[in-house]
Amino acid sequence: MSQARFDVVVAGAGPAGSAAALVLARAGARVALADKSAFPRDKACGDLIGPRGVQALAELGVDVPEAGRGSDLLAIGPSGRRVRLPAYPGRRYAGHGIICPRLQFDDALRAAAIAAGAVPVRARISAADTGPGGQVRALLAADGQRLGGDVIIGADGALSPVAQLAGMLGQDRALWGFAIRAYLPAEVPMPLLVLLDRQPWRIYPGYGWLFPGDGGQANVGIGVGLGTARRSTALRADLARFCERLRGWGDLAAGAGHGPVTGGWLRMGGTGAPLAAGNVLLAGDAAGLINPLQGEGIAEALISGRLAAEAVIAGPGRAGPAYAGAVAAAFGPYLAGAAALQSAMLARPRLTSAGVRLLTAPVVSRMLAGTWSVYWNGLADGARPRPAAWAAAAVQGLAGLVARSGPGPVPEVAAAPEAAQDGPAAEATAGRARA
Ligand SMILES: Cc1cc2nc3c(=O)[nH]c(=O)nc-3n(C[C@H](O)[C@H](O)[C@H](O)COP(=O)(O)OP(=O)(O)OC[C@H]3O[C@@H](n4cnc5c(N)ncnc54)[C@H](O)[C@@H]3O)c2cc1C
Repeated sequence: MSQARFDVVVAGAGPAGSAAALVLARAGARVALADKSAFPRDKACGDLIGPRGVQALAELGVDVPEAGRGSDLLAIGPSGRRVRLPAYPGRRYAGHGIICPRLQFDDALRAAAIAAGAVPVRARISAADTGPGGQVRALLAADGQRLGGDVIIGADGALSPVAQLAGMLGQDRALWGFAIRAYLPAEVPMPLLVLLDRQPWRIYPGYGWLFPGDGGQANVGIGVGLGTARRSTALRADLARFCERLRGWGDLAAGAGHGPVTGGWLRMGGTGAPLAAGNVLLAGDAAGLINPLQGEGIAEALISGRLAAEAVIAGPGRAGPAYAGAVAAAFGPYLAGAAALQSAMLARPRLTSAGVRLLTAPVVSRMLAGTWSVYWNGLADGARPRPAAWAAAAVQGLAGLVARSGPGPVPEVAAAPEAAQDGPAAEATAGRARA
C-alpha cells in the first residue's frame, strides 16, 4: 500500500478542487490533488462560465481557452415569446460570460494547480481513516493508496464520496436536480434558455438550453428540479422533444441530430451537507452550491474552492468555521431565497406557467427583463447601481424572508457558521485550536 502525507488533501480536480489546490500550492502548502479520472476528462455541462466565474478566473490569474463570449441571453417562455435578458457589468463580476468546453476548461485549471506545485494523484477515493472525534486522518483509494492530510477538502461533485465518508451528507435534506446535454452542429448567435409547459398551462419542472459552442458545435441540454427525492429520471425523450421544438422555431437546422448524451446530478441551494465539519471542508457541488434557478455552479465552485484554501492558509485549526462564514457571506443571501423559490415553483406548475407567460409578455418583459436577468443569475450582490439591480436586490430580500418562514430543505450555507462548530468532529478542531 502506498502512503503519502500532505498538509491538505483535495479530493476532486474539477473547478472547485483545482482552484483550492492552486491557491494552496501558491502559498507553499504541500497539497495533493486527487481525482479518479485521467485528465483531460469530460464533464456533462452547458460549458457556459457566467460573469462571476469570469471574474474568479481573472482573480486566480488562470487563462482558459475561450471558445466564445456572450453577454445577453435570450429567454423563451411557454407562449413562445422571446425576451432578451441583458447582462450588466457588476462591481464584483464581469459584464459577460465565456464558453469553454469542460474537457479543456477543467484540464487548464488542473494544469495551473500542478504548475503551482500541487501533486496530482490518480485515485478513486473509497474510504476514510477517521480518528477520535471524527477527524479524517486520511483518504483511502480503491487501489490501496493512502493520502494523509491535516485538512481534507472534498471537491468531489454533487454526490461527494468525501461528504458521505465523513458522515456529512444528508441526502433527504438536499434539493436535487438532474441535467443532460449533447453537442450538435449549429451556429447559435446568443445563448438561449427555454421555459416550456409540460402540458398546456403547467410548467415543465426545469428548462432547456441551446448555447453556442466550439467549432460550430452547439451545446443543447435540459435539466429538471426534483425536490428532495434523488430519483432517476428519464430526460432523453424530453431532450428529443426539445430539439424538435428548436427545429420548429428554426433555431436548429432540420437535419441537425445530436451526438452522445451525458448527464449529471445537481445538488442545489447549499443544501444536503454542512460546509465544514472538523478538518473536512466541502467546496463546489460537494457543498451543494449550485444556483437552484438556472443550475449553474462553475463560478460557485471556483469561488468556494478559493475560499476554502484561503481559510486553511489563515489557520488550519479554525479553517472550518472561517470557511463556512466566508461562503455564507458570498452566497447565503441569494441561495436561501432561490432554493425556496424553486421549491415553490415546482409545487405550483400552473401558477408558475402563468407567471412565466406574464414575465415574457410584451410590456411586462420590457419592464422586468433586467431584474429577471440579475436575480436569476444570482448577480444582485456586487451589482452596479441601476433600477434592475435594486429591484433584483428587493426580490432577493423578499425571497429570503419567504425562505425563513417556509417549509423545504434548509440551506446549510445560511446556517453554516454555527453548524460548522457543532458536533464531535468540530469539537476536536476547537480543542486542537485551544491547545
Ligand atoms: C448537464 C449539466 C449542465 C451544466 N451546465 C452548467 C453551465 O453551463 N454552467 C455552469 O456554471 N454550471 C453548469 N453545470 C454545473 C457544473 O457542472 C458544476 O456546478 C461544476 O462542475 C462543479 O464543479 P466541482 O469542481 O464542484 O465538481 P465537478 O466538476 O463535478 O468535479 C468533481 C471531480 O471529483 C471527481 N471525483 C468524484 N468522485 C471521486 C472519487 N471517489 N475519488 C476521486 N475523485 C472523484 C470527479 O472525477 C470530478 O473530476 C451543469 C451541470 C450539468 C449536470
